[in-house]
Amino acid sequence: MSTIAENLQAVEATIAGAAEAASRPRSMVQLLAVSKTFPAEAVLEAMASGQTAFGENYLQEALDKIEAVARAQPGAPVEWHFIGPIQSNKTRPIAASFHWVHTVERLKIAQRLSEQRPPELGPLNICLQVNISGEASKSGACERELPDLARQVAALPNLRLRGLMAIPERQVEPALQRAAFARLRALAEQLRAGGLQLDTLSMGMSGDMEAAIAEGATIVRVGSAIFGARHYE
Ligand SMILES: *Cc1c(COP(=O)(O)O)cnc(C)c1O
Repeated sequence: MSTIAENLQAVEATIAGAAEAASRPRSMVQLLAVSKTFPAEAVLEAMASGQTAFGENYLQEALDKIEAVARAQPGAPVEWHFIGPIQSNKTRPIAASFHWVHTVERLKIAQRLSEQRPPELGPLNICLQVNISGEASKSGACERELPDLARQVAALPNLRLRGLMAIPERQVEPALQRAAFARLRALAEQLRAGGLQLDTLSMGMSGDMEAAIAEGATIVRVGSAIFGARHYE
C-alpha cells in the first residue's frame, strides 16, 4: 500500500474514533484532503483510495492541478474546495473552477463570486471565515460584523451560504483547541437562531481534528497527516 493510502486509512480511523467518542455519526464529518504544494499525482493516488474532496490554497497551482487531474481521470467524481486567501482580482477563476470556497470574509468578494459564477454550474457553496482568535490572526471576519455579512451573503443569487470556517490560533492543549471550536459552533448557532439555514462547520486540521469533531465539525481540512510535510519553494 502507498504511503498516501496508509495515511488516509489512519486519518479515517481518527475521524471515526472522534465521531464515535462524540456520539456523532461518521457520515456527518467530511474529510477534505488539503493537497496544496503536492502534485496532481498525489491527488490521483488519494482518489485511487476513494478520496473525492480536495482543498487548495494557491490559485494558479490549483488551476493547473484541477486540469491535470481532469485530463488523467476524465469524469471521475472530484470536488475542489478553495481554502486560501482571496484577492478580489482572482475571483473569476475561483467561481468557475471550484465547488466550494471556505475563505470568504468580505461582502465585496462574495458579490464578485456570485456575479462571476457560471450559471450552468449551479450555486457555489460558501463558508464565511471567522477570526475567532482576535488579534492573533489577520484573516477572517470579526464576530461583530458576522451577522450582517452572513445575511447579505445568503441573499446573493449564485451562492449558497453553507456555514462558517475558522483557523484558530495553534494550541497543543485539547481543552484550548475545543474552546476555540466551541466558539465557532456558538456563532453558527446564533446565525441559525436568526433564521439562516447553515449545515457546515469547516474546522480542524491535522493537529486538532479530534477536538474539532468533538465540537461539531462537519468538514475537517487535513493536509500533512495525509500527504506528509510540506516544502514551500
Ligand atoms: C494548509 C491548510 C490546512 C491543512 O493543514 P495541515 O496542518 O497540514 O492539516 C487546513 N486548512 C487550511 C486553511 C490550510 O491552509
